[in-house]
Amino acid sequence: MWRSRRNRDRRTVVCIACGDSVLREDAREYDKEGDRWDRRDKEFEHLCTDCDDEICHQPRDGLESLVLSIESDGLSQEEFLDRYADAVSDSAGPPEDG
Ligand SMILES: [Zn+2]
Repeated sequence: MWRSRRNRDRRTVVCIACGDSVLREDAREYDKEGDRWDRRDKEFEHLCTDCDDEICHQPRDGLESLVLSIESDGLSQEEFLDRYADAVSDSAGPPEDG
């Protein structure tokens, strides 16, 4: 006689900050629109608890609007990160072009 653990959510999600796979039940939901209470038709992104702890202590002035401004449908993660790096380096000085 054994009990199925099917009632637990054993799916994993990928932390959007560090790329680690974490159990969904251990992950923190991250809503890029900043409105976790409206769950309709939404897909949440996830952070592992380590990264979630980290971002809480960091200033993120304008980060959401920046991210939303460079995000568009069909953008690969690589392209997105590229644009993001461009956008943040705009304010921090020109990037070194190897
Ligand atoms: Zn993480």
